[in-house]
Amino acid sequence: MVNLDPQSGQVAVAFFGRGGQGIKTAARILGRALFLSGYNVQDFPLYGAERRGAPVYSYVRASALDIEERGSADADITVLADKSVSSQARLSGIVIANSRNDESGMLSVDLTSATSELGAFALSVAAAAAAAAIITGINADNLNAAIEKEVRAPKPLLEMERAVAKKVFCEVKHKPLPRPWPKETPSARILELSPDPWELSNPIIKASGTSVMRKTGSWRVKRPVIVLDKCKACFLCYVACPESVITLDEKGMPSISYDNCKGCMICKSICPFGAIQELPEIEAQPIA
Ligand code: SF4
Ligand code: SF4
Repeated sequence: MVNLDPQSGQVAVAFFGRGGQGIKTAARILGRALFLSGYNVQDFPLYGAERRGAPVYSYVRASALDIEERGSADADITVLADKSVSSQARLSGIVIANSRNDESGMLSVDLTSATSELGAFALSVAAAAAAAAIITGINADNLNAAIEKEVRAPKPLLEMERAVAKKVFCEVKHKPLPRPWPKETPSARILELSPDPWELSNPIIKASGTSVMRKTGSWRVKRPVIVLDKCKACFLCYVACPESVITLDEKGMPSISYDNCKGCMICKSICPFGAIQELPEIEAQPIA
């Protein structure tokens, strides 16, 4: 378990992931759970252009004492919600990795499956619950109250999120903790997330009809996959796609351009025949 540091009286948790995964909300939930448990709390996100799939970082600092520190520093717990940002993340303390596999030196928890199997979408609750499970002084009641306050969902959805929290919280409680990753010295406490190249994150557009040139497929966290055996060629997905990346062949069967599909899953939610599945992008096969 991670105790409040006896020197500073603090515990700090960093969440790394991508826009659309609920990284900002994860910090809000954990921060509120710590606040309800009697600690002073700061929580804040850091991200560049606000868009789905962009790297996102959020940070929670809690203390039994007044908090005088500002900004982010190395954390006592790092939650890596998306392995694809690991090269841009500063890993320190106990590192929790969202993974089905055993990641070396990390506490591996399949946050994605825990979330999707119970019908929820964003990883916020699962990520917050994983961190909460290894901090002394947070109990499940405070975590539940924080979820209710921060998720602000209709009751059925809230029940799903609570079930996700319970599953992850109990699972992590029973796992052995890996050794903490080292922290940098206080003089080198700046965390940086590399932005996308400027031409991708801030293009200069001078002509019409250029959206196809902007490869928004890199924003995608989840990939829609059309199951052609189930598809009835009703073309609802073709009409509903906000990016017009679904095309129809001569028989009316749809296909998706993954170069530009941003993974909003509107097509999946509108398909009346359940012919569109979603795959976590990180587990999907590379696109030829
Ligand atoms: S997820 Fe579906 S609706 Fe969204 S952009 Fe991709 S194809 Fe279009
Ligand atoms: S909405 Fe579903 S059934 Fe209709 S064309 Fe799209 S994938 Fe096929």
